[in-house]
Amino acid sequence: MTTQNPIDPVKLDKLGEVAIKVGLQLAEGQDLIITAPMTAAPLVRRITEHAYKAGAGLVTTIYSDEEATLARYKYANDASFDRAAGWLYSGMAEAYKNNAARLAISGDNPMMLAGQDPAKVSRANRANSAAYRPALELITGFDINWNIVSYPTLAWAKLVFPNDSDDIAVGKLADAIFAASRVDQPDPIAAWKEHNANLKKRWTWLNEKKFASLHYTGPGTDLTVGLADGHRWKGGASEAKNGVTCNPNIPTEEVFTTPHRERVDGYVAATKPLSHNGSLIEEMQGRFENGRLIELKAAKGADVFNKVLDTDEGARRLGEVALVPHSSPISASGILFFNTLYDENASCHIAQGQCYADCFIDGKSLSQEQIFAQGGNKSLIHIDWMIGSDKVDIDGVHADGTTEPVMRKGEWA
Ligand code: ZN
Ligand code: ZN
Repeated sequence: MTTQNPIDPVKLDKLGEVAIKVGLQLAEGQDLIITAPMTAAPLVRRITEHAYKAGAGLVTTIYSDEEATLARYKYANDASFDRAAGWLYSGMAEAYKNNAARLAISGDNPMMLAGQDPAKVSRANRANSAAYRPALELITGFDINWNIVSYPTLAWAKLVFPNDSDDIAVGKLADAIFAASRVDQPDPIAAWKEHNANLKKRWTWLNEKKFASLHYTGPGTDLTVGLADGHRWKGGASEAKNGVTCNPNIPTEEVFTTPHRERVDGYVAATKPLSHNGSLIEEMQGRFENGRLIELKAAKGADVFNKVLDTDEGARRLGEVALVPHSSPISASGILFFNTLYDENASCHIAQGQCYADCFIDGKSLSQEQIFAQGGNKSLIHIDWMIGSDKVDIDGVHADGTTEPVMRKGEWA
């Protein structure tokens, strides 16, 4: 029996401070909406304290609870699975329209729904995605500053470190989160400044090059990803429409932009398993034609992914392409986190579904129709899958067909 807390309280407090000062850069008087699993309450309290110290107006937290979620799958009547809390999301959307900031804490058990009826899971997700849309659009449209950070819950830690005791597993995951979030460094805020400057160097170079497409080659991969007309590369800190510069993802290692939804061709092999709503999809192989993912095979979980692809027309098309060096700290940790926020930052990736409006030149002033006309994709889903490794090369292809190396063996060329 030990009474020692496996989560270093000083670093946890630093993570709360980084979430407010780097992640959100919460403005004086700004309201804040937090969503979190109940088990992440210790981090919610640190964040709330730092938010009020920074001058927050009102901080409101909406907690989720794994046991309550599972009770629905066990006892709810069939009609329940087409329902969603639209009233809650409308309220969130109203708050964002009034300039509230948004902070999500990820840490849910990634396998929570693994044993549930996939048809019910998919119906519940679809109803939820549709109801969430008004609030999500304000986030993906970057109307307000938002941030996502993680907390090492026991259920998540046991999945990542199944052979360790509870305390050891939580301690290991906590340390991995702290390292990736740069709160293990003497001055985390300065470390983020430097990291943001490095990412800026990369996206500035890509924006100057104005590549028409990227060409990926590697084991099982020969893929051309056309980039949207007037696309813009981004990464690290950026300015939301409300004028606040924030770091939406903590951690983040990627520079990313919007592909053209009709100009993706070839085949591609995933380089890491994908954890999606409690299912693990392994060894995915896809084939694209004219932007459409026309075939998706996997050693495990193909049916789960194919169901998601049937959500809407945009689900089969790409909404994001992102570059991450193989030597990124998260990749170097060698840990499979079963959490997109971490696993996507370990590897170059693409995402099925919704694009980011802000990944266009003058994106903030473009209408949905203009974004669509320039090749941006529209969907209820946004699911990243990992296609980079130390065996993958990427070339930038100019409009005249000439090429230039972008990455070699997973590293910036
Ligand atoms: Zn990404
Ligand atoms: Zn993404």
